Amino acid sequence: MGDMLLVIDAGTTSTRAMLFAADGTCLGSEQRDLTQHYPAPGLVEHDAEQIWSLSRAAAAAMVAQAGGAGRIAAIGITNQRETIVFWSKRTGRALAPAIVWQDRRTAEFCGALKEAGHEAALQATTGLLLDPYFSATKIAWAMDHWPQLRAVGDDLAVGTVESWLVHRLTGGLHVSDATNASRTALMDIDSGRWDDGLIDLFGVPRAALPEIVDCAGRFGETILFGAPIPICGMAGDQQAAAIGQACTNPGDTKATYGTGAFVLTHTGADRPVSRHRLLSTIAWQLGGARAYALEGSVFVAGSLIQWLRDDLGLLSSAAESEALARSVPDNGGVQLVPALAGLGAPYWRPSARAAISGLNFSTGRAHIVRAALEAMAHQTSDLMAAFASDGAAWECLKVDGGMVANDWLAQDLADMLNLMVERPHFVETTALGAAMLAGVGCGCFASLAEAAAMRGQVERFEPRMGEEERERRLSGWKAALGHVLGPH
Ligand code: ADP
Repeated sequence: MGDMLLVIDAGTTSTRAMLFAADGTCLGSEQRDLTQHYPAPGLVEHDAEQIWSLSRAAAAAMVAQAGGAGRIAAIGITNQRETIVFWSKRTGRALAPAIVWQDRRTAEFCGALKEAGHEAALQATTGLLLDPYFSATKIAWAMDHWPQLRAVGDDLAVGTVESWLVHRLTGGLHVSDATNASRTALMDIDSGRWDDGLIDLFGVPRAALPEIVDCAGRFGETILFGAPIPICGMAGDQQAAAIGQACTNPGDTKATYGTGAFVLTHTGADRPVSRHRLLSTIAWQLGGARAYALEGSVFVAGSLIQWLRDDLGLLSSAAESEALARSVPDNGGVQLVPALAGLGAPYWRPSARAAISGLNFSTGRAHIVRAALEAMAHQTSDLMAAFASDGAAWECLKVDGGMVANDWLAQDLADMLNLMVERPHFVETTALGAAMLAGVGCGCFASLAEAAAMRGQVERFEPRMGEEERERRLSGWKAALGHVLGPH
């Protein structure tokens, strides 16, 4: 048996395959961009066949680099969560486009269900809220609008992206790991099973759903790469990142600043209940036992920098934001509330619109860019307060994602949160977490705690800002946010 771990990371904008040694060394990486389809405003789709073909090609490249399938001990899969795929169990072919987590087509439906009083029960069962973000209303919409799905009857398979990839890799296995299943709004996160009441509410065909399984184990083998390779690890991307950041004890917290920002605090074996509009979610399931996390999902983070660069032309590159932020002593009174896709946690206001305020003739682009970066710490500060009120106070924030290459941003987070911020040298924590799970699943590690040694060295940012300046910044943000949120 080989000793390398192969990870397939099927993300929102690209699919990557990465090869790891058991000590965490990354031995290779292959990335392919995924086409984004926007059929109408608010609609986001992916071609599920493309997700598969890119994943297969990237994985094949890594198998070749490893020197053959025999050199690989196990495959770990991590993926964009909530995105939902429809396919035929018999042919394995996709029957419709994948509806992506960012898609808002079910906003009205969610509103109607909320009006009808369904949110409290849904939250009690799933730990989630009624928002188009989660898969269930997307499935309901697809069953109503895409007749080919009903036409195939019991041949229909529905699943999140890891489920789709496993089906194709193994030639027929239909499973979903508990972290991904917990994001569908169809799973009872206490029992780890599909909930019949929710299946009825959303009109989901029961037989189309996968079996819910652990995050590590021997799920099946792929024979596509010359010799069998066991698939031994699976988790949704944010849960994988938390594992890759070694968030294995209650209170351990990671924040990933990519396209959006996702904060998870590990809460241990007891399922948390949020009273401050955070999500309760499954951190992992191993040996049938679940560990839980509280999550705050912020829809706009790095995409704000992309927007300033590509649409407003204020930046030539994302990295330039750092030099610009440093070029001015402060934000010059400018506040930016990045509600470009509504506001997620802890506000949950899909209809909110972004605002740049406090402009005058001495405002330059550097002030606007600085205000954009500052908004990351401001939003995180609001999340930190919500987590603390829910009994999950942070002691240190482990950061990752494309944005935290920005040292100014990492320091600003430490300053505004008045907290130690830890950034690992190897920032591909999502892939690393999937490798850790695969390592546990194939018996290379006895436990996740043992696998956590793969994380390696970290860099620390200590808070340096005085209380007065922090208060001044936060009161400016709260005023601007108040305008965006409006009266209720
Ligand atoms: P994802 O995995 O969600 O596709 P990444 O983790 O790769 O995203 O992060 C990419 C995002 O980070 C982009 O939106 C980009 O604008 C932002 N970004 C990259 N480098 C920097 C930087 N130096 N400063 C600020 N933002 C950055």
